[in-house]
Amino acid sequence: MTTPATATSPTFDTTFASLPERFYSYTQPVSVTLAAPIISNPILAKELGIDLQWLASDEALQVLVGNQTAMGSAPMAQAYAGHQFGSFNPQLGDGRAHLLGEIVAPDGQRFDLQLKGSGPTPYSRRGDGRSPLGPVIREYLLSEAMAALQVPTTRSLAAIATGETVMRQSPAPGAVLTRIAPSHIRVGSFEYFAMQGDEKGVKSLADYCLKRHFPHLIDAPQPYLLLLNTVIERQAKLIAQWQGFGFIHGVMNTDNMLICGATVDYGPCAFMDQFDPDKVFSSIDRQGRYRYNQQPGIGQWNLTRLAQALLPLLHTDSEQALADAQQALDNYVKHYGAAYQAIMSNKLGISQPQEGDQALTEELFAIMAEHKIDFTLGFRYLVDQIATPTEHVALGAAFIAPQAFVVWQQQWQQRLAQDPQSQVERYQQMKRANPAYIARNHQVELAIRAAEDQGDYEPFYALLKILQAPYDYQSELITYVLAPTPDEMVKQTFCGT
Ligand code: AMP
Ligand code: MG
Repeated sequence: MTTPATATSPTFDTTFASLPERFYSYTQPVSVTLAAPIISNPILAKELGIDLQWLASDEALQVLVGNQTAMGSAPMAQAYAGHQFGSFNPQLGDGRAHLLGEIVAPDGQRFDLQLKGSGPTPYSRRGDGRSPLGPVIREYLLSEAMAALQVPTTRSLAAIATGETVMRQSPAPGAVLTRIAPSHIRVGSFEYFAMQGDEKGVKSLADYCLKRHFPHLIDAPQPYLLLLNTVIERQAKLIAQWQGFGFIHGVMNTDNMLICGATVDYGPCAFMDQFDPDKVFSSIDRQGRYRYNQQPGIGQWNLTRLAQALLPLLHTDSEQALADAQQALDNYVKHYGAAYQAIMSNKLGISQPQEGDQALTEELFAIMAEHKIDFTLGFRYLVDQIATPTEHVALGAAFIAPQAFVVWQQQWQQRLAQDPQSQVERYQQMKRANPAYIARNHQVELAIRAAEDQGDYEPFYALLKILQAPYDYQSELITYVLAPTPDEMVKQTFCGT
């Protein structure tokens, strides 16, 4: 692979570097022996204004694996702290990631371009700064699946094998992921300065976030309170979306919650198969702190940490600051409730929500839990009940509804009879809200095993392609729709650190 003379490398314009040096450390990625491309994302590259010729070039391979520094890039690791499983850790930071810089897309939006698994940094503590191939594939699949579901998320631009062995429970091949995010500033970034009593640091970071993410708020009377309120609203909506797809993040520490409101850090995460409100996948979450039905509450807990960090900026009168923070945190419940209701209405084909809908939804989930109904197929089956036979491909034998579920549908149909929209409108509404394909754990695991054990990326590519069009069921792709058999079921996911 060569680099054509006409290929243009991305232009880095790193505003984060304008912040004082205690916010980050300049540090170079560590070179690897044998970089080999696994995948790159031309559709995303195009959105970002990255030259496709460059993306396919040897220069891009070397830059995105960390062997070479692109013109204008001054790689850095960002400092942050965080509450991990409820306990505060004052010193985290990018221990295995390098921010190469920011790029500005043709539409004016600014993004971080970050390498993950690119070697140790001053924040690595005892870690090796590397990532095994498995977690890179998981993050690539899950983040691109979330993007296709229109859930705010970091994206994956490329994955590159390093040719090196990473030591974990067993030796694994290493890889580097190129991650794209509106920014990587976290709740934990604010905590980092707040806990050191560094009010100036908190203010600089808040000003930076306002300028970068919410410039329309800068001139408002209480910009920092609005910043808090906006982050709260975004996170409430985000977590409502997770709930609507049966997604379990797995490690909702405050260092894994972004100010921009995108999902980040696809570690021990998973989409549920059988519905279970207490579902946990993560091998490290022994208390079930981050189980499915706890996610909305944990979101508010994390945002309380953000509010605490921002307190001195909210008001000169500390009592008033507390009252404002409390009000903002109370708003979380409202935003979450409204978003969740809208999502569930879409999933159930309701255009004008009514009071009894919540009870109807709760009853549905109770039946789904009792009968271990597959989350995705259960809802998709409801779409089948509304579909006009001519254009629709039904799940057919891929899902057999238990009797209790069929009985519940009578109530649901009665409710729909009072809702004014046409059947065609309802079908479109429901289809857009109920994917046929999610990143099923056992399929993700198959893709990882083939890649790690056999160097075979075909299952990864095939699965990715399906996940990029999650709503269009094709009966010839039934394998990907099916719930796992008991043998295939993956009960635990691992952090991969
Ligand atoms: P995570 O669980 O991925 O959110 O990571 C939590 C913290 O541990 C972050 O500060 C990471 O940078 C750090 N970390 C995770 N894995 C490694 C590793 N292999 N080497 C160094 N630091 C790591
Ligand atoms: Mg993290």
